[in-house]
Amino acid sequence: MPNHTHDYDLFVIGAGSGGVRAARRAAARGMRVAIAEASRLGGTCVNLGCIPKKLMFFAAGFADAFADAAGFGWRVGEPRFAWPDLIAAKDAEIARLNRAYGWMLEGVGAEVLHGRARIADRHTVELEGERFTTGAIVVATGSRPFVPEVPGAGLGVVSDAIFSLPELPRRVAIIGGGYIAVEFAGILHGLGAAVTLFHRGPLPLRGFDDDVRATLAGELVKRGIELRLNTEVGRLESSRDGVRVVDRSGGSTPFDLVLWATGRVPSTGDLGLEEIGVELGGNGEVVVDEYSETTVPEVYAIGDCTDRLALTPVAIAEAMALVETLAGNPTPIRHDNVPTAVFSRPEVGAVGLTEAAARAAGHPVVVFRSTFRPLLHRLAGRDQATMMKLVVDGATDRVLGVHMVGPDAGEIIQGFAVALTCGATKAQLDATVAIHPTAAEELVTMREPVED
Ligand code: NDP
Repeated sequence: MPNHTHDYDLFVIGAGSGGVRAARRAAARGMRVAIAEASRLGGTCVNLGCIPKKLMFFAAGFADAFADAAGFGWRVGEPRFAWPDLIAAKDAEIARLNRAYGWMLEGVGAEVLHGRARIADRHTVELEGERFTTGAIVVATGSRPFVPEVPGAGLGVVSDAIFSLPELPRRVAIIGGGYIAVEFAGILHGLGAAVTLFHRGPLPLRGFDDDVRATLAGELVKRGIELRLNTEVGRLESSRDGVRVVDRSGGSTPFDLVLWATGRVPSTGDLGLEEIGVELGGNGEVVVDEYSETTVPEVYAIGDCTDRLALTPVAIAEAMALVETLAGNPTPIRHDNVPTAVFSRPEVGAVGLTEAAARAAGHPVVVFRSTFRPLLHRLAGRDQATMMKLVVDGATDRVLGVHMVGPDAGEIIQGFAVALTCGATKAQLDATVAIHPTAAEELVTMREPVED
C-alpha cells in the first residue's frame, strides 16, 4: 500500500481502543501513520469507561470485604470512605495511562495529532486548518451516551459525569437496565449511596440469559438496591428536595442525582462522512462490510462508531483484522463467541448463546444449571447466590453457551471462552479435572441436566 504521493499511508481518526491499536499495529508494520484525537488519548475505555469504572468497582468491593471480615475473625472498626480520595487516585492512574498511550504510539513511529479531524475527500483529512493526504482512512470515533427526549432530561447526568462528581450523592436514581445501569447501581450502592433503578423492561440486561437476569435482579434487591421494573420515566422535575423522577404512572420520587444509562449512540456527526458518500445507518453508525470497509473504498471504520459490538476487545480485534487486510492479507472479522462481563455486584459473565437464542436457532437444547452459596460467603453469613449455567446442543454435545452470576464471573468466563472457541463438548468439560475448592469447578462437575 505505501504510496509516497500521500503524506501518510493511514490516517486514523480517534485514539480510543480501536484507533490506537490500528495505528500502533500499522506503524509497526512499516506504514506511515497519523492518528488524530480531539480529547485525551485512550478514548472512552481509558478515560470515561472500562478503566475508571473498574477502579470504582474495586473501591465498592471493599464494602463487602469489611462486612464479611468479621465472620472470619477480624475486628474491623467503622470503615469510612472518602470519595475525593478515590477520584484523585483514579485521576492519577488515568493520567498515567494517557501518557503511556502517547509513548506507545510515538514508540512505533505513529504521529499523534491533537485536534478535531474532518474528512475532506477519501484521501484528505483536515485538522485545525491543515490538510493531510493519506492512502487510507480509519474512522474510530467511538460512541457517546444517549438520553431520551423527555421533559427535564437535562436535570440528569450521563455516565461521563460520574467519574468527576465532587462528592458521593446520597440518593441516586439510575434510569436504564443495561451494562452501565447495573454496574453503577452496584458501585454507588457499595460506596454508600441509596440507589433506585428505573427500568422499562421486566428485568435488567436484556439479551443476557433469562436465568442470569432473574438471578441478578434478585441479588440486587437483596443488597438493598430498589428496582422499579416495567417503569417508564415520563419526566424529570426540579424541586426543593432534589430532582424528581416522575414515572408514567404518576409516581414522583426525589433524588440528589439522576443518571441516564439508556444506551450509547455512534459518534459520527460532523466528520464529513456522508458528504464523501459513506453510508450511515439509522443510529448514525458507519455501515461497514466484514473487512470494516465503508461504502467508500479505502475508508474504513472500526469500534463503537460501527455499532457492531460495543466492547473494547472487539474494537481491538477489528483493528488487528483491518491492519492485516491493509497489509495485503484480507482478514474478515467475526463476532461469534465474544465473551462479556458485567461488573455488577454480583458480577455477570457470559459467552456463547443464551438458552432462548439456542432454542430459537433450532438447537435441541439441554441445560445444566447450578445455584449455590459459595464457600467464601458461608462464614460471612452473606446471603448471596452464585448461578452457573451451561447450554448444550443435545445432538452434537457441543457447549453453546456458558453463563454465570457470581464473584469473579469475568475471570472465570474468560477461560471458558477459550473452550467454546475450540468447540468444546460437554463430554470434554466432564473430562476436565476440577480445581477444588473453587466456585468455577461447578462448571466441570454438573452431571444432571435440568428437566424440561
Ligand atoms: P445498553 O444498551 O447495555 O443498555 C441500555 C439500557 O437503556 C437498556 O436497558 C434499555 O432498555 C434502556 N433504554 C434505552 N432507551 C431507553 C429509553 N428511551 N427509555 C428508557 N430506557 C431506555 O447500554 P449502556 O449505556 O448500558 O452501555 C452501552 C454499551 O457499552 C453496552 O451495550 C456495552 O456494549 C458497552 N459497555 C460494556 C461494559 C462491559 O463490558 N462491562 C460496561 C459498560 C458498557 P431495553 O433493554 O428495554 O432496550
